[in-house]
Amino acid sequence: MTTEQMTKTQESLIASKPLKDQVAIVTGSGRGIGRAIAEALMAAGAKIVISDINEETCNQTATELRESGGDVMGVQCNVTVSDDVQKMVDAVTNNWGRIDILVNNAGITRDQLVMRMTEQDWQAVIDTNLTSAFKVTQPILKVMSKQRYGRIVNIASTTGVHGNFGQINYAAAKAGLIGLTKTVAIEYASRTITSNAVAPGFIDTAMTQAMKEEARNKILEKIPMQRMGTPADIANAVLFLSLPSSGYITGQVLEVNGGLYT
Ligand code: NDP
Repeated sequence: MTTEQMTKTQESLIASKPLKDQVAIVTGSGRGIGRAIAEALMAAGAKIVISDINEETCNQTATELRESGGDVMGVQCNVTVSDDVQKMVDAVTNNWGRIDILVNNAGITRDQLVMRMTEQDWQAVIDTNLTSAFKVTQPILKVMSKQRYGRIVNIASTTGVHGNFGQINYAAAKAGLIGLTKTVAIEYASRTITSNAVAPGFIDTAMTQAMKEEARNKILEKIPMQRMGTPADIANAVLFLSLPSSGYITGQVLEVNGGLYT
């Protein structure tokens, strides 16, 4: 099959709106990978909750997606704050009555060598990239359990699978997120709820644009596909795992990294 044929197959799948009448929450979706995921799920017919700590990008993205024809709610939410999370869950269930898809995407980096890592930077990354997923997943599992249906996709990282120089806090948090993913998969399989992780390699967003050019070039040399990934590359993987037809895939980590580390 040629790339053009594959694109056409994907376009016709999306055009059939496989997520019609489903409700999807994507955390940290004001920009970057989260926004691309929200756009992909919306194109497949889902009602979308744009959720972000940053009220301005949250509202702006929600407005833009609504103007492009989507059914969209914007809810400002800091995923490290349980009260914020519960308010978001209540707002969504009051408005749409269900939650079918949860994408735990919000994340930060505070890179430093092991010996120079401060406890504050360690904790900030563990709180935002790992504990938050527990805080968001727990109340949403209650909703999904009642429905006896759900798709949870956690955005991990190749760093969580393989480790990375200067990222002890980030690697530990993302490895923990993979453990959380697999445990939810085991506990909730009987309720037709799947839980998977997508582990991106190096994706061209604000997060990686903050890296020094020398470091970016070094990484590029190691990627067999010879390019950084795009947010859409990750969104396509999340869409696949969110489909009703992906119901027998659970507890998996899908690395989307252009062949890096394989
Ligand atoms: P960005 O920094 O571009 O976007 C992250 C978004 O999450 C921002 O809108 C940010 O808000 C928001 N956010 C941060 N903290 C919180 C919080 N406490 N509560 C709610 N929202 C929050 O990052 P990416 O799009 O690149 O990354 C998205 C995910 O993908 C992250 O989990 C990241 O770890 C993961 N990832 C990214 C890779 C990459 O190469 N880019 C590689 C591997 C994994 P604000 O605007 O205030 O910063």
